[in-house]
Amino acid sequence: EVKLNGGNGAQAYNLDMYQRVQQRVLLEQDLKQALQLNQFSISFQPQMTIATGALYGFEALIRWRHPVRGMVPPDEFIPVLEQSRQIVPLGYWIIEQCMQQCLSLLHSGWHHFRIAINLSAEQFVDPDLIPTLKRLLDKYELQGSYFELELTERTLVQSIETMLTIMPQIKAMGIHFAIDDFGTGYSSLSYLKKMPMDCIKIDKSFLSGMLENAADFQIIASTIAMVQKLQLQVVAEGVETREQLELLRQQGCDIAQGYLIARPVPQAELAGFLEEHFPKGMWRGQNLGSAP
Ligand code: C2E
Ligand code: MG
Ligand code: MG
Ligand code: MG
Repeated sequence: EVKLNGGNGAQAYNLDMYQRVQQRVLLEQDLKQALQLNQFSISFQPQMTIATGALYGFEALIRWRHPVRGMVPPDEFIPVLEQSRQIVPLGYWIIEQCMQQCLSLLHSGWHHFRIAINLSAEQFVDPDLIPTLKRLLDKYELQGSYFELELTERTLVQSIETMLTIMPQIKAMGIHFAIDDFGTGYSSLSYLKKMPMDCIKIDKSFLSGMLENAADFQIIASTIAMVQKLQLQVVAEGVETREQLELLRQQGCDIAQGYLIARPVPQAELAGFLEEHFPKGMWRGQNLGSAP
């Protein structure tokens, strides 16, 4: 029991608990109709090949515009969807949107790119995942190699056996795999050995400290070195400054993603954004000196 101000502390604590539970229930209710009411959309955040400044690909990021609350951050509602397993149907909607976006990019003359899609553990073990991926690639006549599935260590840890049967079937379609938020879980290194990974994404928490904190910098530098020895791609997430980008370049990091290069761009604005910020497929900020 928590008591802060004499007897009233416990009461305040209970009220707070009550409000949080109530908010959660409301959130769940609102989420149930959000898909039908078209409240979800997807933003695409460009990624850049550091050595050349060329556009490398995109990460698809879900957005929810609540009619009263406005934009709700994914970290708030994704866990709720995961618990109720609503993430599974929403996830298929996201995958299909990404395929349509891929087609649209191809039609506008973009050819060398990859769209990374975040996948929750619940989606990964859903028996429809493999047939749905096959069906959608067929429907849009797309190669799997345009796509990458991002898994977190939370997913990988759930059932190594399941992962080892599912992953090769998805890889056989040409789809790539990335470990997201690398370094924040328990035993990242063992996954690199066991799973057919293509890419690792260094978590942005290491990036934010890399300029002041020697440990963060060393973790980044040694992760890059190790990942390259394993001949995997490495993406640094959360690149916000020129200094960070320069240090990553010196360490031989392949790909950068972060606000310095581009914020997540709403799907409807992506074509125009790319023309303006990636003329001929090259990041404009590369030639602009200090200001992006
Ligand atoms: P994540 O997969 O690690 O995504 C990267 C997050 O970093 C995104 O947050 C992105 O907007 C943010 N970010 C990118 N560059 C920068 C930067 O330079 N500075 C800072 N401070 N942040 C940056 P977002 O969009 O809020 O998404 C949060 C998390 O929600 C994602 O983390 C992912 O775990 C989850 N999520 C987002 N979209 C989906 C989805 O479609 N499906 C699933 N299952 N999860 C999703
Ligand atoms: Mg991600
Ligand atoms: Mg991440
Ligand atoms: Mg994350």
